[in-house]
Amino acid sequence: MTRSDDAGLPAMARASVALPDATGEVRSFDLVPAGPGEGWLEVIASGICGTDVALFGRGVAEPTVLGHHVVGRVAALGAEAARRRDLVLGDRVVLEEYLPCGRCPTCATGSYRLCPETDLWRGGRRVGLIPAAERPGLTGGNAEFTFLPANAVTHRVPAGLSDALAAWVLPYANAIDWVTGAGALRGGETVVVLGPGYHGLAVAASARRAGAGRVFVTGLARDAQRLEMAEALGAHPVVVADETVRFGHLPEGTADVVVDTVGSDPSVLDPAVALLGHGGRLVLTSPKNPAPITLDSASLFRQGLHVAAVRGRSPEAIAEALTSLTAGDSGLDAVPTVEVDLDGTAEMLARLAAGTGPESPHVVVRPAA
Ligand SMILES: [Zn+2]
Ligand SMILES: [Zn+2]
Repeated sequence: MTRSDDAGLPAMARASVALPDATGEVRSFDLVPAGPGEGWLEVIASGICGTDVALFGRGVAEPTVLGHHVVGRVAALGAEAARRRDLVLGDRVVLEEYLPCGRCPTCATGSYRLCPETDLWRGGRRVGLIPAAERPGLTGGNAEFTFLPANAVTHRVPAGLSDALAAWVLPYANAIDWVTGAGALRGGETVVVLGPGYHGLAVAASARRAGAGRVFVTGLARDAQRLEMAEALGAHPVVVADETVRFGHLPEGTADVVVDTVGSDPSVLDPAVALLGHGGRLVLTSPKNPAPITLDSASLFRQGLHVAAVRGRSPEAIAEALTSLTAGDSGLDAVPTVEVDLDGTAEMLARLAAGTGPESPHVVVRPAA
């Protein structure tokens, strides 16, 4: 391909725009021609993650097309982008949210997820978080089409992987990174997952696949159905009641890895930390509401614990997620997918923010539905 081939691209596309007053509306956007290094994706699926729910519920600073767990089909691609990405029109890709600079020392080591230009705490920019007023306005998954900036990161989806399971690639890759990377899980070890949400279930699935001996997933009484999904993934459900975590048959000091997906709430973290045995690893994954946290330093020293806070996932974890999902050994097809179209996206985000969302935590925007 020697030119920007976008003959099949429509002139306009619809998107669900999140608004500062914690509501949303569908708007139409012009699809500008892609430059040589750029392109457009037709969105197949855009997974709703806890970060989207928190952003929507708080009210975004400026109208924004959310959606950063994106699977799409290449609909336009400049010549340079086609060569560099080794993609052609019609290929399916997973789009990461990072827009790394590609020049800094962090990018040079391959850790582009930690590039300062993707750091939200320092004004970094990401797919799904760019104001709609910025040209081309449409860099987010909750849309019929999403722009592919020159520095976007894409991964080809294997032919054998269904669109439905492809929507799991990013959260499952996160989970693989957190469990086997930061969590350094070894075969036979015991894992405790705090929270049976979208990422919590993915962590349970990745822990089982990585050879954990036992996996426990905690939830509240109202999470009964999500805990059943955790059971279907091979985990033991644990109901947390009255803000007191009781892990029943799991004695203190016997867990190897605790993965927190609920947001570092001390009422949960303290008893969870007490579960960790010598050399245990506490993995903090959820910066939705960043705040100082306290940890029992006596436990940290006595048990020689490791505490890791993670951001996203490595490209190796994405490759492993694609392999596992294509091979059908993730178990995640046991978790029902709730699909929503663009007209229902804002209402769904509002329900999720209010805690009245569907039983399954796997909610996917399907713009063509
Ligand atoms: Zn996310
Ligand atoms: Zn960089």
